[in-house]
Amino acid sequence: MFPAPFDYVAPASLDEAVQALANAGGEAKVLAGGHSLLPMMKLRLAQPSMLVDIGKIQGLSYIRQEGDVTVIGALTTHAEVERANIPLLSETAAVVGDLQVRNRGTLGGSLAHNDPAGDLPAAVLALGAEIKAVGKNGERTIPIDQFFVDLLTTALREDEILTEVRIPALKGRTGVSYKKFPQPASRYAICGVAAVVTLGADNTVESARIAITGVGPKVYRATAVEQALQGKTATEENIKAAAEHAADGVDVNGDIHASPEYRAHLAKVFTRRAVEEAVRRAQGG
Ligand SMILES: Cc1cc2nc3c(=O)[nH]c(=O)nc-3n(C[C@H](O)[C@H](O)[C@H](O)COP(=O)(O)OP(=O)(O)OC[C@H]3O[C@@H](n4cnc5c(N)ncnc54)[C@H](O)[C@@H]3O)c2cc1C
Repeated sequence: MFPAPFDYVAPASLDEAVQALANAGGEAKVLAGGHSLLPMMKLRLAQPSMLVDIGKIQGLSYIRQEGDVTVIGALTTHAEVERANIPLLSETAAVVGDLQVRNRGTLGGSLAHNDPAGDLPAAVLALGAEIKAVGKNGERTIPIDQFFVDLLTTALREDEILTEVRIPALKGRTGVSYKKFPQPASRYAICGVAAVVTLGADNTVESARIAITGVGPKVYRATAVEQALQGKTATEENIKAAAEHAADGVDVNGDIHASPEYRAHLAKVFTRRAVEEAVRRAQGG
């Protein structure tokens, strides 16, 4: 199907792009890699009156260190993230879609889109990242725990552009893992679990951040699992018991690919696998 008619602008600067969004009064959409937005426009699930293509703006694609923070520009592609050896984020980017998708899709686009089956939202949520955005009222930083609001909805305002993702360094004996059960055709996550686990010297869990995608209306932190792990020795038995809480309190999705019961089951199994691998890696394995 063809998209509804729309205007197109390709500003050369962030200021111009923000101005274009503000002038459109909520009717415009940012265009980055186009791998989520264009399919939605073709299905007429999105009908923006204007596309503001940020692809011609210089300086939005980079990966650099600022002290112990890894800083990634919004237009950095999944393939570039995959090659950068960033704990958890690179292994997650490596399992997004296929090569074509990873070469066009951007980190900023994936987070701003907040697809309930997207992989990268889970990784950045588990990593405790921060999001930088710029809009007509200037720049602000949004903690990741406040960023993913609801299905396909984030804390970004209509005139705001996500510019940067800031990932804090892992501290102490920390291990990470992303485990995914992909939809066989698209590779989107039917269930994906990102785990960041920090162990004390005696192998007790000092802290855990577990983020799950594909299961609920949006990516979420499995706080019941995190609490069940905290202070416990990282044994197989304790991890399995904690993982049983992976879908607690979640309105679990059901569709032609997986029923709610099956997805809830996957959430438990993949949480156990992700936490086990994170623990092994924290122990140097
Ligand atoms: C066949 C196929 C398979 C896929 N498989 C997977 C998969 O396995 N896992 C997965 O996670 N994803 C998958 N994707 C989605 C892919 O990762 C997308 O590229 C990504 O979700 C969106 O990034 P984009 O740069 O293409 O954004 P776009 O499509 O350009 O934009 C998406 C949305 O975000 C907004 N936006 C984009 N950039 C910004 C910004 N900087 N500031 C504010 N708003 C912005 C747009 O306005 C739009 O609403 C798949 C896509 C396809 C087509």
